[in-house]
Amino acid sequence: MSGAQEQAELAVAELLKAWDAEPDGVWAAPGRVNLIGEHVDYNGGRCLPMALTRVTAAAVRRRDDGVVRLASTDPDAPSFEGTLADLGPGQVSGWAAYAAGTLWAVQQAGVDVPGLDLAVSSDVPLGAGLSSSASLEAAVAIAAAELAGRTDDRDLRHLLIQAAIRAENEVVGAGTGGMDQTVALLAEEGSALLVHTRDFRTEPVHLGLAEAGLELMVIDTRVKHTLADGQYAKRRADCDAAARELGLEWLSDATPADVERLTDPRLRARTRHVVTENQRVDAVVELVRAGRVAEIGPLLDGSHASLRDDYEVSAVELDVVVEAAREAGALGARMVGGGFGGSAIALIRSSDAAAVGAAVVAACLDRSLTEPGILTVTSGPAARRLS
Ligand code: ADP
Ligand code: MG
Repeated sequence: MSGAQEQAELAVAELLKAWDAEPDGVWAAPGRVNLIGEHVDYNGGRCLPMALTRVTAAAVRRRDDGVVRLASTDPDAPSFEGTLADLGPGQVSGWAAYAAGTLWAVQQAGVDVPGLDLAVSSDVPLGAGLSSSASLEAAVAIAAAELAGRTDDRDLRHLLIQAAIRAENEVVGAGTGGMDQTVALLAEEGSALLVHTRDFRTEPVHLGLAEAGLELMVIDTRVKHTLADGQYAKRRADCDAAARELGLEWLSDATPADVERLTDPRLRARTRHVVTENQRVDAVVELVRAGRVAEIGPLLDGSHASLRDDYEVSAVELDVVVEAAREAGALGARMVGGGFGGSAIALIRSSDAAAVGAAVVAACLDRSLTEPGILTVTSGPAARRLS
């Protein structure tokens, strides 16, 4: 067990003590970083996320009175108390909507979720683009399903993915295309997961980073520009409009020729991103499968340029850290996640880690930007029971 998980379990145990409750079990689910394939999950495209060793742990005790109590070690997350009937859309707000919404959606999917006391603790940084939200949902979902007596198999995990997406869409009210929930529940340690977001088919792709002397660095700009949420909805609307004009159900089915047929330059640029990003995902998968992971750098760079220029979701902080990482020797770098802040990733030689980290921090401080957080990440397993 990683130190992170142990810490999470201890923190959860503290919380449960306050309730005078011994957990029936502890479950954990990972955050993730997306190697490539950004803003394609809601367009029926392909993406290549990898689960982290950082997790949300959930300690859970079953109750027989239908009461649901939710608590988090996060200081900004007030406890919630309600009943199994109080967990749906419009009934819960704030952080608890992620957990309550998941219980509601798992129930809606036909699982006989019992009342429960549930306490969570996470070492996935919240709101940094590493999907703390899906890790929370996945940990809650798998715990609830197992407490309900369900057998943990692939069918169950697919059901839980859909429930977690539904919770985030309908109860939290956040747009999410399903990549995060899929990797949280289906990832394999040591591999990235190629996700076909149209039908949620997945294929593990062994990365071999360590064997190649490489590491993935996550650079958290610690900035979130307030326009982020509205812009996500606008990009989705642009994609819907472009798909309509082209007569396509999924914009990822557009061809390079289709891109040129679009009359509105904005829709043309958005579509060009979606088309080229899917091509880059395929190219990365091919290189990685051929044992040439060290050569994917230019594709990461291409993804960043496309997100910045065609999709217009970057931010000065992201451009600065990506540029600084490359100048300090990164093989490739790009923004990840929704954009307008959040995190970037850089593929680096392990021996360059200190130099790249220092250069990125210096570049931000030089421009009077917020000092970014730097972490190197490795690939971890999917949601699982810890004890
Ligand atoms: P990301 O998923 O990239 O971290 P989101 O904005 O999608 O960012 O989700 C972050 C939100 O998820 C937090 O603001 C909080 O409401 C909720 N959340 C995630 N993990 C926890 C946790 N351990 N405790 C309380 N809330 C959490
Ligand atoms: Mg999220």
